[in-house]
Amino acid sequence: MEKQNIQPFLTVANYHLIEQQMNKILSALATSNDKNIIQTIRGIVDTKITTNITLSTDETKLIERLFSITDRAQGEAYLESLKPFVIPFKTLTASTIKSLFKKEKKLKLPALEQLDFQHTCYLAWDDQGTHRKYVVIEQDDKLKGIKGTFDHGTIKGICAICNRHADVGAFTTSIKGKIPGTFTSHTNYICADSQQCNHHVTDINKTIAFFDRITQK
Ligand SMILES: [Zn+2]
Repeated sequence: MEKQNIQPFLTVANYHLIEQQMNKILSALATSNDKNIIQTIRGIVDTKITTNITLSTDETKLIERLFSITDRAQGEAYLESLKPFVIPFKTLTASTIKSLFKKEKKLKLPALEQLDFQHTCYLAWDDQGTHRKYVVIEQDDKLKGIKGTFDHGTIKGICAICNRHADVGAFTTSIKGKIPGTFTSHTNYICADSQQCNHHVTDINKTIAFFDRITQK
């Protein structure tokens, strides 16, 4: 089987992008009988995917099955068939997380057993008691921990991470300045629901760039 020769090649964000694009095709199919319109949407989706994901010939064959989907059930089966090709987030243990946040004396850990690393682009969780939000991202094959405060007085707005319109709140990170005793703060509006946000990330490089920016002095 060709399947076994293909190694995982999709990042979690790539997978989310394909899912998002598949939904565009499905909604075109549900709202139009015009073959030209559907063909146009398929063309737009094809361009979006091929400009965002570099694919080999075999990988292209797998992805192209998307264009023969005609209903939701086939769409679900298609997504399921891509799962073996998704590169999951690095598996995190409690001790790995603790080592990323060494200075946190009372670090609240995320519910690790509930996490699906196959669907995680970036990991974030809250400590409701202290209003802290913790984030773990993978950058250059290394894990990076970021700590900030999150104001739960949410409003409707655009999330700085996933760029969607959602319930967002102010996320503030403070970094020690170049001059001892000084701090630089960055405040950005991000999704209140980090799980949902993670699901909407379709370009991990933009997410990494965001976290880079807010951890600069
Ligand atoms: Zn978001």
